[in-house]
Amino acid sequence: MKRELAFDVVVVGTGPAGEGAAMHLSKHGRRVAVVERFPRVGGACTHLGTIPSKSLRHAIFQVSEANRNPLLRTADLTLQVSFAQLRKAAAGVIDRQVEMRRVYYERNNVTLFQGQARFVDPHALEVEQAGGQRQRLAATHVLLATGARPYHPPGVDFTHPRIFDSDKILALDQTPQSITIYGAGVIGCEYTSMFRSLNVKVNLINTRAKLLEFLDDEIVDALSYHMRDQGVLVRHNEESDKVEPHDDGVVLHLKSGKQIKTDALLWANGRTGNTDDMGLDKIGVTPDGRGQLTVNEDFQTTAAHVYAAGDVIGFPSLASAAYVQGRYVAGHMLGQPDRDLIANIPTGIYTSPEISSIGKTERELTVEKVPYEIGHATFKNLARAQITGQTVGMLKILFHRETLAVLGIHCFGANASEIIHIGQAVLSMKGESNSLMYFINTTFNYPTMAEAYRVAALNGYNRLF
Ligand SMILES: Cc1cc2nc3c(=O)[nH]c(=O)nc-3n(C[C@H](O)[C@H](O)[C@H](O)COP(=O)(O)OP(=O)(O)OC[C@H]3O[C@@H](n4cnc5c(N)ncnc54)[C@H](O)[C@@H]3O)c2cc1C
Repeated sequence: MKRELAFDVVVVGTGPAGEGAAMHLSKHGRRVAVVERFPRVGGACTHLGTIPSKSLRHAIFQVSEANRNPLLRTADLTLQVSFAQLRKAAAGVIDRQVEMRRVYYERNNVTLFQGQARFVDPHALEVEQAGGQRQRLAATHVLLATGARPYHPPGVDFTHPRIFDSDKILALDQTPQSITIYGAGVIGCEYTSMFRSLNVKVNLINTRAKLLEFLDDEIVDALSYHMRDQGVLVRHNEESDKVEPHDDGVVLHLKSGKQIKTDALLWANGRTGNTDDMGLDKIGVTPDGRGQLTVNEDFQTTAAHVYAAGDVIGFPSLASAAYVQGRYVAGHMLGQPDRDLIANIPTGIYTSPEISSIGKTERELTVEKVPYEIGHATFKNLARAQITGQTVGMLKILFHRETLAVLGIHCFGANASEIIHIGQAVLSMKGESNSLMYFINTTFNYPTMAEAYRVAALNGYNRLF
């Protein structure tokens, strides 16, 4: 064991939550150590989650767009790209992201330790490096930003070559002809869209009554409609009974008695927090049944000097949220908590059509008895959408019918996750500055998708009496 090194803060994990906290703390003069068990920084976000899946999605959508292009069709050309080739595009982005992030740590004088971190007492952690060497780190505060991994239910053999989770699917070599995706959360729905774009027959098995129930109902209905329209077989309210792998396919037995046989099975039902083998008993912190940590509104665990942020605390399990949670924690440790940072977190879902939303849903406003009105703009009526051919989509603004304050924005269609940020800027304004009138009295470039805000605002405003 090497001699103990002392820091103000030890951050465990180099995903967005850990990085957000470490950078903020070091910029404010704190001595920060970051521990990462992967050989490279970036977290599951960079190596197994957001970056590889979004790069893969982009590559897949480029191929499918090209194959739909009327010019290529008249020339009788069809692009055939293997899954392995599509994956190569992702690898390049991962390398660039890792290098960029490694330099951030270096430039900001954050000391990186590679290895598994575990508590030895409430203010000390031991890092077990790959060669078995041990380094002890003492800290005033600790942030657990250890992320999550795919949940593996008992009885499902993930070593079988036809059974995948969201990590293993990134190593898929051949495009299957058919796939069953079990779990219709964000990851399940996004992979459904990707495989369907590759013309794979997809069965999406949802354990709930609706897709992505936390979204606005109108958006959920649109996603269900478009998925079915694209040829996805969606089954709601189903539960797995047994998974039976064979040499020529996988049979999923459902408790309802149905059996589905496809070339491959992607199990995308739930994530487990990375809290095992961390010596949490030494600080009196107990994870829940899903390995997740419970925190208070300042992201403190039951041991007040130990914070947790990002996927290890569960919902919303987004890289974007993890990053701001990490920064909030850093601010709290510095005695300058900034609640605005975490007040309004948007959702971006990269299905086909893409979805994004921020603020309240109609369901929530109705329960809260808020007198709201709705303004709609459908993409098919926008000049820019007609020019690009991306006419599927809608932008919906929910606003207070008396104060005209923007309460929620819900969007689906091309670039929804970018478009939402225009509305976010208005929604997050304080007092009278948050007003529907901004969209009505602002000149938008023409033709743009942003123009949807003006159309939707006028549509809603004209409903008022
Ligand atoms: C397929 C997929 C697609 C996704 N797409 C999106 C998306 O489009 N947009 C979006 O916002 N989010 C997306 N997400 C979610 C996003 O990846 C996560 O929300 C994000 O990675 C969480 O960041 P984090 O910092 O909490 O943890 P992570 O990124 O998981 O990083 C945690 C790190 O901690 C390390 N660690 C764990 N335990 C220890 C230990 N004891 N000692 C040392 N190191 C340890 C791990 O090795 C890991 O590197 C996606 C996730 C998946 C799986």
